[in-house]
Amino acid sequence: MKVVPMKPELSVVIPVYNEEAGLATLFARLYPALDALQMPYEIIFVNDGSRDNSALILSDQFRARPDVTRVVLFNGNYGQHMAILAGFQATRGNVVVTLDADLQNPPEEIGNLLAKMKEGYDYVGSIRRERQDSAWRTYASRAMNRLREKITRIKMTDQGNMLRAYGRNVIDLVNRCNEVNTFIPALAYTFARRPTEIVVEHEERAAGESKYSLYSLIRLNFDLVTGFSLVPLQFFSMLGIGLSFASAALFVVLLARRFLFGAEVQGVFTLFAIAFFLMGVILFGIGIVGEYVGRIYQQVRGRPRYVIQALLEESTNGAVQNEPTKVKV
Ligand code: UDP
Ligand code: MG
Repeated sequence: MKVVPMKPELSVVIPVYNEEAGLATLFARLYPALDALQMPYEIIFVNDGSRDNSALILSDQFRARPDVTRVVLFNGNYGQHMAILAGFQATRGNVVVTLDADLQNPPEEIGNLLAKMKEGYDYVGSIRRERQDSAWRTYASRAMNRLREKITRIKMTDQGNMLRAYGRNVIDLVNRCNEVNTFIPALAYTFARRPTEIVVEHEERAAGESKYSLYSLIRLNFDLVTGFSLVPLQFFSMLGIGLSFASAALFVVLLARRFLFGAEVQGVFTLFAIAFFLMGVILFGIGIVGEYVGRIYQQVRGRPRYVIQALLEESTNGAVQNEPTKVKV
């Protein structure tokens, strides 16, 4: 007899990178929380090229609960947001929930997200009641949140939190995007017809440590800014106009003094200071242009955004499908 798995109503997508220490605790809380919802669900783990035993632990978990577990295995590390995108491609549910693997997002909150979706929203974001991260992370993230609020039309109270629910309409549109560097909560927000937010709990990392270095956090924020807004470029051209008028005025003044008082050398250091300042502004401007050019470069190169080495899932006849080297562009 053929086993035909029921089409899931809910898909949960979880990116996993070097999380071997916390996965068992995650399974122990996640599966009961989803079973309690009394609806057909699937959990899609995406192993983002972990160098520890995560891939092995995930395949064991797949064997333990093949009815509701699917595992996408990348051949390398492509980043959290690429992992989520690959997970989205595999989803079948009407509602898709994203979650971190480190248990900072309590799985028990998924029910609350779904309740809000039932009210007719197609995007339910979340605000961490009390953020359990280091003080500088919390502060820097709040500052970035404010900057993003000013330069994009995206309205989110707490952009950094991944515990979110998306409607199928939003996921289908995200799946049609080919962005190389992106920020999922913001990208999905741009496609939502009726977005809302709820307050959720936030916990300390169950095990292991944050996978984000200061550098990768800065890169991520550049993706957020350059991927969703032209304001930095426009701001820079406005600044350029202002500075050139000021420089032109200074030039006229100095020229006039040259004819009125003859050659002057006083104030040469002031002029140096002004010149250095302007050079700094120019370098900053080139850097901003470079960020956009880099994005364009990666985009036109058109390389595969990630490579799926294997996909563990139960096929309609109950067998395990394992497709090696499936390339997704
Ligand atoms: N992650 C990933 N690829 C990466 C970095 C992180 O898939 O290159 C996953 C990680 O396993 C976790 C989630 O993304 O499930 C969030 O990472 P982390 O908890 O380290 O970030 P933080 O909480 O410090 O923002
Ligand atoms: Mg975390």
